[in-house]
Amino acid sequence: MNYTPSTDFEQLSLFDQTGHPIPQLPPEPASQHEYLLIPNTLTGFRNVRTDTLQDYAGRTVHCHLGDLDELPSDRICEHCGGSMHVNSSHTMRHLWHLPYGNAISMVKFAKTQYYCPSCHHSSYQPVPFQADGHRITKQLEKYIKELLARNKYTLKDIAEITGVGKGIVKDIDKKRLQELYTEETADGRKLMKPERQAKFLAIDEFKLHKGYIFATHIIDLVTGHILWIAEGKKKQVVYDFIEHVGLEWMQGVVAVACDMNSDFQEAFQERCPHLQIVFDHFHIIKNFNEKVIAPVRIEEQNRLLAEGNKEGAAHLKKGRHILTAKRETLKDKDRKARDCRAKRKGSVLFKLRHFKRKDGSLIRYNDLILENELLFRIDIVKECLAEAYEQDTPEAMKAVLDKAIWECRQSHNRHMIWFANLLENHMPGITGYAMYPISSGKMEGINGHIKEIRRHGYGYPDDEYFFLKLIDASRHGRVPYSKSLRLNY
Ligand SMILES: [Zn+2]
Repeated sequence: MNYTPSTDFEQLSLFDQTGHPIPQLPPEPASQHEYLLIPNTLTGFRNVRTDTLQDYAGRTVHCHLGDLDELPSDRICEHCGGSMHVNSSHTMRHLWHLPYGNAISMVKFAKTQYYCPSCHHSSYQPVPFQADGHRITKQLEKYIKELLARNKYTLKDIAEITGVGKGIVKDIDKKRLQELYTEETADGRKLMKPERQAKFLAIDEFKLHKGYIFATHIIDLVTGHILWIAEGKKKQVVYDFIEHVGLEWMQGVVAVACDMNSDFQEAFQERCPHLQIVFDHFHIIKNFNEKVIAPVRIEEQNRLLAEGNKEGAAHLKKGRHILTAKRETLKDKDRKARDCRAKRKGSVLFKLRHFKRKDGSLIRYNDLILENELLFRIDIVKECLAEAYEQDTPEAMKAVLDKAIWECRQSHNRHMIWFANLLENHMPGITGYAMYPISSGKMEGINGHIKEIRRHGYGYPDDEYFFLKLIDASRHGRVPYSKSLRLNY
């Protein structure tokens, strides 16, 4: 039978164009066409037979039986260099190989044991196509690495696709990441030096393992790449990082964004006095909202209650959200409400209620601050902060912040005074923003990476692997920074 498969699609259909059935080819004898011949990519392996095991742990397995070629070097004793004999015992070995569609495959062969008569050393024949440390072929290892590099599949997905255990996939991934991001040194592996000169850095800490242990990471703010990551949140992390990249590299760095509540800035300035520290403005606003506005509102509420002014206290309680908002935000909210824009659309299908935006946020806010002197001052400080971050020079920024400090001190309120001290004690770092408007806010992206990596079940509790995964994730930027995930209302 001489049948050449045609690429012409028409020929593949059962009827021709005139509607006549195309004669079916008689079936070939099964014995001749039971297998496809696909290239044997395993150098040194001579395939003799292939058996198909149906339903082996739920999968079809193609088992390629064969012989292992012997190389002249196999018989040379690695201990004394003498010539070795073939020992009578052979060991059957199987290695998992590339999957074929939904079926998985293995190669099976006998490994010869050699014996050295001069030094009594015995050894097994090396398998040139076996991956290091695992009972899989190098080809399968390469395929797993390729799947891992796509950053799309979980360890479990790859284990299912390839028929290899999840632990092995993890080992291969860890090795892959070590090759990508670390280098061998005399005392173990260490992270590679940054591939490019960074101009702006950010440093921040994050919680590891449900918050009992902290880790610190340093990123290049332009690329978002994690350059350093270590356990702890002490100055030592900064010293170690500077030693790693070297003082010369640090000379190229202009500014570092960090949080005020840490002592990282001291560590940076001790070693590199030229660095401009920029305190994250998000943290400053957060401090003001959480440590000034929130306690002041509660204290004022309690004061009104004690004075018997239930209505006033209730007003304040209701106003807790609008008190921390910027005027601009409130105006915007009112505008949206007037445009009848829904906060949430209702649905008959799921019995969802329709939420309408309420107009008058700004009026209610104005009522609140006019009733209360302290809240009035808070409003001035809040507007000063907003104005300060619009200035172009540190001097102009300081001038606006000095107004805020004066206002805080005039209030004689302990929370406001605390905030005035905070601003005063960190002034150069705060006004550094006018020169370099950088923020460690981008660092929040790491929390997104952590969640994503945890959800995929990577690495936990192997922190070395976990950190390598974080470094890798920062290079792919696949996880959107959590800031952009935050809802807009
Ligand atoms: Zn020997």
